[in-house]
Amino acid sequence: MSDLRLVIFDVDGTLIDSQAEIVAAMTLAFAGEGIAMPDRNAVLSIVGLSLDESFMRLCPDTDAAGRGRLVAGYKDAFAELRTQDKELGPLFPGARAALEVLQAQDHTLLAVATGKSRRGLDKVLERHGLTGVFHSEQVSDHHPSKPNPSMILTALNETGVSPQAAVMLGDTTFDMDMGRAAGVRTIGVSWGYHPADDLRPDILIHDFQALPDAVDQLTGSSS
Ligand SMILES: [Mg+2]
Repeated sequence: MSDLRLVIFDVDGTLIDSQAEIVAAMTLAFAGEGIAMPDRNAVLSIVGLSLDESFMRLCPDTDAAGRGRLVAGYKDAFAELRTQDKELGPLFPGARAALEVLQAQDHTLLAVATGKSRRGLDKVLERHGLTGVFHSEQVSDHHPSKPNPSMILTALNETGVSPQAAVMLGDTTFDMDMGRAAGVRTIGVSWGYHPADDLRPDILIHDFQALPDAVDQLTGSSS
């Protein structure tokens, strides 16, 4: 077991370019509550947090009941968008190839740590043919929001991998802070929803082709 290593992926902004559907669902949720929509950059800055935490940051003056309605409105809007036959949320370029390279390595396990719900993650994985690719899937339903390390600690526990042999890959400061809090190394991606300069990861990558080498560097094992 000690030879195993674990690569933990964030989803939105890292694997999947979901900004179109997130902004569309947010627009519907705010319209339903009659609150002015924050600007697009503000909305994208919270992607990855739990929904309740997201609305706490986006509209701090809204009370818990209003936030509850916003969360429900967002979920409904998202589900509605999913029933429409649109090509929303593509994989980022090179994502599938990088997953295949890592998946083919006997000593590398893959995991997901996402602010998405179980239902939301299942749909995304199904849509992209990624069901069963990840050995451990941590979702927002049963964990405190990032950057609490709960999701990573559970993924390490489920796979039996030590923190020294694990890396967290993500596009936001929430992912990097979560990784550091869990004692794992971090890889930041420059194509997501937070400015790359804010991430301060162990390694910053600019395309998925660079991922396998970055994982090798940080875990000290070769592919
Ligand atoms: Mg993200």
